[in-house]
Amino acid sequence: MDTLTKEQRSERMSRVRGKDTAAERVVRRLVFSLGYRYRLHVRDLPGVPDLVFRSLRKVIFVHGCFWHRHRSPRCRLARVPKTRVEFWLTKLEGNRLRDTRNLRALRCLGWQALVVWECQLRDLLAVRHRVEMFMAAR
Ligand SMILES: [Zn+2]
Repeated sequence: MDTLTKEQRSERMSRVRGKDTAAERVVRRLVFSLGYRYRLHVRDLPGVPDLVFRSLRKVIFVHGCFWHRHRSPRCRLARVPKTRVEFWLTKLEGNRLRDTRNLRALRCLGWQALVVWECQLRDLLAVRHRVEMFMAAR
């Protein structure tokens, strides 16, 4: 069963990938409340990370589960549409591979990256904990 209504689906698809999504705003608020300051969507870094902490050499990505093809058995948001399956699989799998390449490139440049998935925001306390651990790690 497709869990999204037609409207939700088209809203999700019309959104430009990674730009100012609701999920991203939630994470920004959380990080800000922890006292960290960041820059947004830094273009000179691989993958244009959503939140960038330059002096700490850390970045956070907030990934929408659909566009970035979240591969978790518990994720209900990453389902491939029932129509044009081939098209979507190719496109979304391409996004996922590019994400993997970008994370590797960042690591090579000496940056640490944390990926927060949209579906994980249902447990904000857990996300908060992960962010705190990530930011405190050396
Ligand atoms: Zn997910």
